Amino acid sequence: MILELEALTHRYGDELAVDDVSFGLEEGELVALLGPSGCGKTTIVQAIAGHVRPTAGRVRLRDRDVTDQPPEARRVGLVFQESTLYPHMTVRENVAYGLASRDTDAQERAELVTEYLELVDLRDQRDAYPAELSGGQQRRVELARALAPQPDVLLLDEPLSALDRALRERLREEIARIQDETGVTTLFVTHDQAEAMALADRLIVMDDGRISGDGTPRTLYESPPTPFVASFLGRSNALPATVVAREPPTVTLGGREITLRSSARSPPVGASVTCHVRPEDLSLTPSTDAGADGTAPSIPGEVAAVTDVGRRYDVTVRTETGDELVAEVTDDPPTAGDRVAVELPRDRIAVFDPAEYEREH
Ligand code: ATP
Repeated sequence: MILELEALTHRYGDELAVDDVSFGLEEGELVALLGPSGCGKTTIVQAIAGHVRPTAGRVRLRDRDVTDQPPEARRVGLVFQESTLYPHMTVRENVAYGLASRDTDAQERAELVTEYLELVDLRDQRDAYPAELSGGQQRRVELARALAPQPDVLLLDEPLSALDRALRERLREEIARIQDETGVTTLFVTHDQAEAMALADRLIVMDDGRISGDGTPRTLYESPPTPFVASFLGRSNALPATVVAREPPTVTLGGREITLRSSARSPPVGASVTCHVRPEDLSLTPSTDAGADGTAPSIPGEVAAVTDVGRRYDVTVRTETGDELVAEVTDDPPTAGDRVAVELPRDRIAVFDPAEYEREH
């Protein structure tokens, strides 16, 4: 394990910013730390870098406990959202600055600077000053500066958030290439779920100081471990339901009994639960006697609204129990007032017992 956080907790006065967070990064991994503003991401980064001394818990780099070590005793590369380049230094001098404390001679330093400027494709700009570079080029200088000392771990804290969308996407690909070429273990912090899912092989999703999910983008998307992950990664309908049987797990939902896949989590009979299902997993049939013959379970409802969002329609259906859910339809949308049956794919319904998650908020 290159980086390991063990039960990391941090308070700012009374504010619990990071609450018992543990995870590890293996050599060469590119992991996204994802969550909304204020969930504790930057505090974790600062604790790894040594700028925040955690209230409790340990930080280990290459099996060495660095919790009590100052930043300069840790081999950590950092890139933030804002530029931290020195305006009075050239590109080359900025990159060399990161190497100043290393035990290298001038010749070796010059070679490393050249190597890393080539890696980020900025060799020709080596004598320019930061103000002469575009926003994207400045980001790449920062990357070269962070990477040249060959850190154990590279921490990128919202590095693309200040850039426009097109540039952000280009640089995201650049970062993936550079990470792949160098093999540097990387923690990429972002609040943008699309960015995290496009870039990383593994996501650690944070909610209010805690880890709410840790896994591959696909696993977390298709089988969300918590209601927060279900709604933060993509869109999700949250529907109230009641458990009526455990074997096989069965709930009443939208006025119908729905049998779930047998591996579904099954709270006790009588529990009031929330079922999450994604709009793109639902299909609509123009039927009034829903569930009569269906192999897929379905619930009846009335179309409340249809919104054309370009490539598809979002159809809002109100069930007999008064709950609303959204289904994505690609063609032939129904019209408001139509009676429809909403087909639910058994294996795509996630069941959560709110009692289990109350402490999260
Ligand atoms: P953002 O993306 O907005 O920076 P974040 O996920 O990185 O959010 P943190 O910056 O780590 O979250 O903040 C976590 C919590 O700690 C927030 O509620 C924030 O207000 C609080 N906090 C952060 N820094 C300080 C500080 N120096 N003093 C007091 N509270 C702080």
